Amino acid sequence: MSARRHLILDELGLMPVWRTRQTGHETEPVPELTPATVAVTATGRVAVSEDRRSRVMQMDWASLRTAVPDCAACPLHATRTTTVFGTGDEQADWLCVGEAPGADEDIAGEPFVGQAGKLLDNLLAAISLKRGRNVYIANVVKCRPPGNRNPDANEMEQCEPYLARQISLIRPRLILALGKVAAQNLLQTEATIASLRGKVHDYSGIPVIVTYHPAYLLRTLPDKAKAWEDLCFAMRTMESLLKSAD
Ligand code: URA
Repeated sequence: MSARRHLILDELGLMPVWRTRQTGHETEPVPELTPATVAVTATGRVAVSEDRRSRVMQMDWASLRTAVPDCAACPLHATRTTTVFGTGDEQADWLCVGEAPGADEDIAGEPFVGQAGKLLDNLLAAISLKRGRNVYIANVVKCRPPGNRNPDANEMEQCEPYLARQISLIRPRLILALGKVAAQNLLQTEATIASLRGKVHDYSGIPVIVTYHPAYLLRTLPDKAKAWEDLCFAMRTMESLLKSAD
């Protein structure tokens, strides 16, 4: 292991897990990519007009960048400081999807710039990724829910076309869903993170891997080890995707 990786993993408190993984777990085969585990349906969703969704789905990056700050489709527009569009490489292989901007992001206009963002950057560095380079970072909703509450069903539904269009423009090879809100929203399921981890799911033909939200990991240190397992799983899945694309 390189000295740099050693330092990163040490800082994340992951070193014991790294050692146990030397026992051969890391050579486990990547599960076959499965067809959609959960289809995207209208069940249980608050309606967005087909017209609005199809207009958003035809936007290019420039139009989308204008549409998001102008959006007033849900009540969050009234309390936001700024919208948080997303950031990174628009041709990235990796897309990380979080939940919603927090207080820091609401001011900065960039996702994951607070404490959770620092941990996300460290987790990405541990698998040799860097914000902006072959990674795009976005959220399910583009405006901060007051008091950092979870976004509600209407807010997620109104914002869904923006993330859907970002995904269709980026066409990442793999989506990493960070936390329950991202996972449940992308996969249109009520299933728990625990039951979704360790499998390759599907979003419109794009493999999705689910892991814990960095903010949760800051509060629940023992689960950092599980997040590291998820990242290793994601890395192996990406390797296999790249190999099969050759
Ligand atoms: N949490 C998120 O889910 N997204 C952010 O951008 C910041 C914190």
